[in-house]
Amino acid sequence: MQPFFLPHVGTNYAKTGLLVLGESHYCNKLCRNCGHCGAHPECANFTTNVIRGYLNPNVEREGWMNTYLKFERSLVGHKTNINESSLIWDEVAFYNYLQVPMKAPRQAGTKAQYKQSEDAFFSVLETLRPQLMIVWGKRLWHHLPYTYWSDSEPLIINFDSKEHEEVGYYTLPSGHVVHALGVYHPSAAYSWNEWYNVIETIKKKINYGYINL
Ligand SMILES: [Zn+2]
Repeated sequence: MQPFFLPHVGTNYAKTGLLVLGESHYCNKLCRNCGHCGAHPECANFTTNVIRGYLNPNVEREGWMNTYLKFERSLVGHKTNINESSLIWDEVAFYNYLQVPMKAPRQAGTKAQYKQSEDAFFSVLETLRPQLMIVWGKRLWHHLPYTYWSDSEPLIINFDSKEHEEVGYYTLPSGHVVHALGVYHPSAAYSWNEWYNVIETIKKKINYGYINL
């Protein structure tokens, strides 16, 4: 099953093979059945429009944009400006897992809604074939499907020798392996320089073969 809410796929995504996984779409149309209602086909581009709004310097800066700013900095390990933001988001893909819109930002889905989004998720993984997927937030991490899943040994962070347990991988039916790393949700307290160390550590561990951001 193809997703209704499509991923943002940067034009240079192939350079990094990096997929960022968010949790949900928050729709102010208050359509509880979007994707099935048929009335809002434009909602399919929700994710792309969010990224576009974030990257458009003419759009007034709003609080939610900090989520994207903090996260992109944890990818490169330094402060970024709007030009770098564009380059970074052009080299990654971003997909929101839940295929049912939520009524408020950061609201949790039901167990059934996570389950019901599995097929679309795997179809996105099979299409994009990321090498690394970075998952936003523990809640989403714990709701990800176990199909095709294997846990990895905890990651020992190069920088401070702490252990990080949210690591594993999917082996897709095609044989393609997608490594996964769970991070704190960047909308909350998120120290981008600490997460940069974690992300760099997993890249080394999986022999990340792509061009660095
Ligand atoms: Zn709708």
